[in-house]
Amino acid sequence: MSSCLFCEIIGGSIPAKKVFEDDQILAFYDINPKAKTHILIIPKKHIESGLTAQEEDESVLGHLILVAKKIAQEQNLEGYKLLMNVGKKGGQVIFHVHLHLLAGGKIDLESC
Ligand code: AMP
Repeated sequence: MSSCLFCEIIGGSIPAKKVFEDDQILAFYDINPKAKTHILIIPKKHIESGLTAQEEDESVLGHLILVAKKIAQEQNLEGYKLLMNVGKKGGQVIFHVHLHLLAGGKIDLESC
């Protein structure tokens, strides 16, 4: 597998400001926030994209949404947006599945 920035964050060789971690998921602050709160929630398993996700990934992909809820509760967010860019033509830049959790202020969805 060619190198993956998010796998390197999971492995600890690239630093990130972590928000949540369990055996399947890591969440950390986006380096270039498009809202007051902008957190990326990623599976530890390297799944390239929603385009390549398999049936066996169903549980971890669902878990991303429940982790978003947990983080939102911990941060007292009353509402938020979840966004997943899927594929190059869907705006995906990093090819390791991730959910953007966005909340507060003016959310710049166009740049996400
Ligand atoms: P996407 O366009 O959906 O692939 O989103 C990739 C996101 O990763 C962008 O919002 C970037 O700002 C963010 N990003 C890139 N490098 C890092 C990094 N080292 N740490 C945290 N977020 C990053």
